[in-house]
Amino acid sequence: MTNKVRTRFAPSPTGHLHVGGARTAIYCWAYARGREGTFILRIEDTDQKRSSEQATFGFFEDLNWLGVNWDEGPEFQSSGGGDVGPYFQAQRLDEYNTQLNKLIECGLAYYAFETPDELNEKRKLARAEKRAYRYDRAALELTEEQVQANLDEGKPYVIRFKVPDDAILAFTDEVIGDVEIPRSELDDFVIFKADGFPTYHFAVVVDDALMGVTDVVRGQEHLNNTFKHIVLQEALGFERPRYAHLSLIFNPDGSKMSKRDKDKTLRAYVKEHQIESPPDGCIEHAEWDNWLSSKDNQLQTDEANSLAKALGVSLPEINVDDFKAAGYLPEVLMNYLCLLGWSPGDDIEQFDSAFLIEHFSLDRIVKSPAKFDRAKLLAFNLDAMQALSSEAFESRLLEWCHEYAPAFAALGERFPLFAKANHERSKTFRDAIETSSFLVEDDEALTWVETKPVKKALLKGEVTGLSLLPEVAQRLGELADWTHESIDACLASCAEELAGGKLGKVAQPVRIAVAGSPVSPPIGDTLVLLGRDSTIKRIERCIAFFMSHCDA
Ligand code: GLU
Repeated sequence: MTNKVRTRFAPSPTGHLHVGGARTAIYCWAYARGREGTFILRIEDTDQKRSSEQATFGFFEDLNWLGVNWDEGPEFQSSGGGDVGPYFQAQRLDEYNTQLNKLIECGLAYYAFETPDELNEKRKLARAEKRAYRYDRAALELTEEQVQANLDEGKPYVIRFKVPDDAILAFTDEVIGDVEIPRSELDDFVIFKADGFPTYHFAVVVDDALMGVTDVVRGQEHLNNTFKHIVLQEALGFERPRYAHLSLIFNPDGSKMSKRDKDKTLRAYVKEHQIESPPDGCIEHAEWDNWLSSKDNQLQTDEANSLAKALGVSLPEINVDDFKAAGYLPEVLMNYLCLLGWSPGDDIEQFDSAFLIEHFSLDRIVKSPAKFDRAKLLAFNLDAMQALSSEAFESRLLEWCHEYAPAFAALGERFPLFAKANHERSKTFRDAIETSSFLVEDDEALTWVETKPVKKALLKGEVTGLSLLPEVAQRLGELADWTHESIDACLASCAEELAGGKLGKVAQPVRIAVAGSPVSPPIGDTLVLLGRDSTIKRIERCIAFFMSHCDA
């Protein structure tokens, strides 16, 4: 192994990749890339109950979508490989056992047989006596024979690390600087659990060393864990990597940005609207009751998404795939996430990955918490969307529609015009389809809601928009050809002759008639996209609808 930079991203696949994790991955990746180093992906799946293959696969896809490819790790598309694997912790038990034996041999690891209940009692007692709980090393009092007898009996046990009494608990973090805690704050922590798996602390230390990791970049929630890691490294004779701990990410309201935000949004909605049972077909009644019985009972992501859909609630985007589904460009998300704690200086904010790789360094990471500013991200996305050539916008929108809006992907030869008509106005790909849902609806299924702007356009004024529609429909029906030019000219002459020259007086009622809402792409594009038959049919249905529904 060379002494080049080797970074790793080490997610626990217990959910989707959230923005905090994605930021860590991007920093590790850019740091290694900029130094011709190696970026490793390692899956920390020692928590067997909470890890899932589906989540692991989701992580691969999210990283891949962001363009964060890994040199070593599980194989996926063009990423992965390497000769210091396996890169799944659950497959590395032999390695952990080998290292554990070293500690046992030199008396630095020991069996402890207390049950969880016994430990809880000790914790309670400490609380009652107003002192911090530390494991009391009671297991060290057992004689070798007692330990052997317990093992022979098959008593469940954990293995603890015997933190040397003179351990120095201090290190220099690349972001935070010198950090230190008194020796008394660290007790003999568990390194092997009762299920035979190593704890995160033990596995991470063994893996980082055996994989030759030189730089550990991770979230600040691991800062205090690092003291455990450095004492283990000393005991096992491993080199200490450089550490850089990243600040937390906050919502603009000052709360911590977390995957619980979706759950919070749903709870607030259900409470506000006094919804007592789950809408049909999204979650079971028992699951619903369980969810509402305690804030700790979080819905799974899929359940939360389906409940949100059924209730018509939009959930905050938290995970990478939320932003993908919302129609953000991956390069924009990557750019924006980088700014949550790092900047290249000189007021430069918008950059691509080549720039990032060239300029990224640990010493420009700041320690203050970052705020996730959705408006800024959206503004970045708009800029990037507009900077795309029309061909690029069209092909990327098509790709997105294939995944998230297949009815639009099926527009076929109308797709290029649909894309062109929406390019300028769309902040995200989802924007493009949201104001164009009329395009994929059946003529017979379109309905109208009498909102204020709809009433204004159709029913108000001396000459109402509705009263003009029959004549406009007739003239549109008689056009020799159905092009932007002929349609625009027809509407202009209708406006001239029927509405005192006001184009909006004609165009807006037509738009509402064919789109069902006052927002759609430019009117010429809208009608060309719909085709003549649909246009006329919809105008006629709209006239009939308002004649029978309104007292106008
Ligand atoms: N698996 C840990 C997590 O997902 C990260 C461990 C680390 O980076 O040291 O939080």
